[in-house]
Amino acid sequence: MKHLFFTLLMVCSVVTLSCAQNQNKTKKFNETQLLERLEILSSDKFEGRKTGEKGNDSARAFIIKEFQKLNVSGYNGKFEHPFQFKQGNKVYKANNILAEIKGTEYPETYIVISAHHDHLGIIDGKIYNGADDDASGLSALISFAEYFVNHPPKHSVILAAFDAEELGLRGAKDFVKQLDSIEVMVNLNMDMIGRSAKDELYAVGARYNEKLTTILEGFKNTTTTKLLQGHDGTDGKQDWTMASDHAPFHLAEIPFLYFGNEDHAAYHKPTDDFEAITPQFYKNAIHIILAIFETIDHLGL
Ligand SMILES: [Zn+2]
Repeated sequence: MKHLFFTLLMVCSVVTLSCAQNQNKTKKFNETQLLERLEILSSDKFEGRKTGEKGNDSARAFIIKEFQKLNVSGYNGKFEHPFQFKQGNKVYKANNILAEIKGTEYPETYIVISAHHDHLGIIDGKIYNGADDDASGLSALISFAEYFVNHPPKHSVILAAFDAEELGLRGAKDFVKQLDSIEVMVNLNMDMIGRSAKDELYAVGARYNEKLTTILEGFKNTTTTKLLQGHDGTDGKQDWTMASDHAPFHLAEIPFLYFGNEDHAAYHKPTDDFEAITPQFYKNAIHIILAIFETIDHLGL
């Protein structure tokens, strides 16, 4: 009996070990770190991340460091891609952050996954932390980088943290303007994916591309969060087709999917804080977007 007990113990240990190893292999990204990063990015120390200001500089440095920790490289050898623009009397100096992962099968064709790193800064002494808008998308970009370390994509991927979205999608416009040299298959844009009382994530843009329509219709959602299509000019709701950084891609006739939640009371308010993020929805949203990415990467468009 003693011997049998010992054997059983050994078998159990081996099974437990191999289970743990399997879990490691199938784990897509670290959910705890995803939330911790969101908390840091939307903390007061970044002063609302306004384009051209100190808080924006330090948030950018933080994001680049996160990419570097994962050994991900900058696009064309650098992370920061500066540009400037004039608004009113002011000239803004801005910086897109671009990371690149080379595709294993189609390195010449790119999928651009984007979020914006700027927000509204400090207005009347109040810090606009923009936890949902768009620290949520920003932290997700790093989780994507983490995922690609263990699951290299077939197509090349640019992880783009655009600047000056709040000032008129400036970073995305600058990026798209310079796209002559590479072929972009699709843009997946994330802006406000951290908070939904109704547990609903919207995908906008599939209606312009037959394959994206088929992919979304066949999508098997393994999360409890609802993935809806709408806010796309077909349902009488506010149309988000031109509402964020995916718009310049759309105007350049590049297929896109925009992911976001419905506006909440804290939209563009100083109350858009980490405490109001709905963590399960947020994690689910990223699992959904990741699964859609995988399908697109696998099938192509
Ligand atoms: Zn936004």
